[in-house]
Formats: sequence, structure tokens, C-alpha cells
Amino acid sequence: MSDKIIACSDCFKDAAFKYMISSYGVHDTTIQCPHCGKCSGSKVDLNSLLNVMHLFFVNGTVHRTEYGGAPVLQMNDCRAYEDIESISADLNDDCRLLYQMTGWCVFLYGPRLCMVGFNDVLDDLRSDRIQYAIDAILSSYPVVTMDRSQYYYRLRIDPNKPYDISEYDTPPTTVHRTSYGRLDSPDNNLIYLSSDLETCIHECRATVEDNIYVATLKVNKDLRLLDLTAYFDEECTEFESVRLAVHHLFLASSHSYRISRQLANAIRDKGYDGIIYPSYFSHIRNGNDPFVDNYVGLSYFVYNKHYADIYQVRNYAIFGFPIQDGKLEVVSINHVRIKQVKYDMILCPNIE
Ligand SMILES: [Zn+2]
Repeated sequence: MSDKIIACSDCFKDAAFKYMISSYGVHDTTIQCPHCGKCSGSKVDLNSLLNVMHLFFVNGTVHRTEYGGAPVLQMNDCRAYEDIESISADLNDDCRLLYQMTGWCVFLYGPRLCMVGFNDVLDDLRSDRIQYAIDAILSSYPVVTMDRSQYYYRLRIDPNKPYDISEYDTPPTTVHRTSYGRLDSPDNNLIYLSSDLETCIHECRATVEDNIYVATLKVNKDLRLLDLTAYFDEECTEFESVRLAVHHLFLASSHSYRISRQLANAIRDKGYDGIIYPSYFSHIRNGNDPFVDNYVGLSYFVYNKHYADIYQVRNYAIFGFPIQDGKLEVVSINHVRIKQVKYDMILCPNIE
């Protein structure tokens, strides 16, 4: 702890907030809390306390909408304290104390509507103007050559012939399929890959009970991919941002697949070999919340290249039958055993 202790978990009343301070504070019973005088609680300095406040009140109240999402509570250091009707009396007492200790006030948040899906490009994607939006996406994002120096992974759960490389190619069209993913469809065959093995586990919803195999692949030819994870400056508002529309699209669940499949068809029809796209599980993989803006209401994702880079986990969709066609080569097939699963979680405030 770099700064001086200002509070401890015993200073507060709300059980969930006390738990959060205990989780992130310093456990040292030789230090006396300067506020409540006790030694038993976990101690925090100003930076740690602000971090716990943000995790609990802001990250902990993110509400996802059909496209996008936003926190119900927000905090900043330029408002005067007011009670919040929809939280408990104990938690209001804690918020008042936190305001006195830090100068930061927790309040009910009205997010910028672009954070909860109000975006012109997204509106077009959801309407009969979809082709205009797809053209905008195609002309905005760069085409890149798939990195031939790294390995890519493709996971299968309970394959019929685990060590047969054809099991890891796109399923043959003769196989009757009842379900398709975010980008493939009966008229657009493709395989999904990731350069991150743990992301594959999330994407396949694999559990410890599953019989899991992974193929390690390398790229044999120069493959041209449209990179939907690329950062580029946009001279427009968030309400007109192509990047924010694509961000919302790939964080939406299966109700969005009709749109993303049509986008994938258009990318294939342009002659590209595939797509780099952000994983739906990016936030689970790296712990960064995709729906939190800064305290003056600007989306981290739109305006912060570093955040956009570290937030996104890149997945790959390659059209056709790339193993059969020699574009990708299986270099190894291995059984996967999930040895341990760790959770990183926060408790969240109750809001009526
Ligand atoms: Zn204390």
C-alpha cells in the first residue's frame, strides 16, 4: 500500500461493501484504523478505497440492454452528496461516509444513450438499411494478413474421431446441423479459431465434465482478413461511431446473429479469407468491463485506443474448408483436461 490508510472494513455498515473492502484491503491487525480506531478490519488507502467504490457501485450495477449497457450508479468528485432513494439506509450511510472520506459522490446515473444502443449505424444494421451500414463497416476497417508466426486453436467437445484432422475443419455440408454460431449459416461455411486457448474454452461453453480436444493450427498461406477489432480515429460523435456499433453488435447475444451473419456473408462476398472479430467473452477473459464510461460520460472504448486494445480478445473466422484447402495446417491434436477453474467476482449493491 503506497499511501496512508484512511479507512477499514469495520467503518462501514453494508455487508456486501464490507466484504469488498475485506477482499481488496490489507489484512494487518497491528495497524489501527484512523477512522473507527479498530485493528480488526482490512485497511485501505485512498486509491484502494476509490477502486473498491468503482468496482462495487459502478461495475457492480452494469445493466445490459439489447445492445450495449450502462451502470445504474456512477461516481464523481464534482457533485454534492444526496441520499439515493433506491438503496438501503445502511448503504446511504456508507455513501455519505465515503463522500466525507474521499470527496467522491455516488449517484443514480443517466448514461449517454449511445452506451445503451442508440447509434445511427446500429439503427441501420437493425433496419432495412442494413446494406448501408455493412458498406460503412467494410470501408472503415483495415484488411490484414493473418499472422503466420503464431499458433491458433480450435476446440472440439466429444469429437467422433479425436485424432482425425478432418474433425477440426468446417463441418461437411452433408452433416445435418440444427444450430449455427454468430457468423456461420447454412450458406456460409466457416471455422472459428482463437489464438487464446482459454477463450476457446469459454466460446465452446466447455465444462470439467466434457471430453475436450484441441487442434493447434498454423497458417500456410497469406490469408486476407477484415479486422473488426482494429482501432481507428473517427471524426464523429459516439452516436455515429462505426466502431461503437460493431462493439455493441459483437457483445450482444444470439438475438444479434441475423445481423452478424449477414455482415459475414458480405465480407466473404468481397473475397476475403475471413474475419478477425472481438470475442463475446472478452470481458470475462480479461476482467475489463465493456459498458463503463468515464465520469464525464465518454465511452472508454470509443476514445481510448489503449483500452480498446487491451479490452478485446481477438477471434478468427475463416471461410470455406481451410484445412482441406491447405490454408491451415493441423500441427498437433491434444486432449484437454481442465485442471482448475478460478473465479474473479465482486458483490454488487441491492437497488430496488
Ligand atoms: Zn475503520
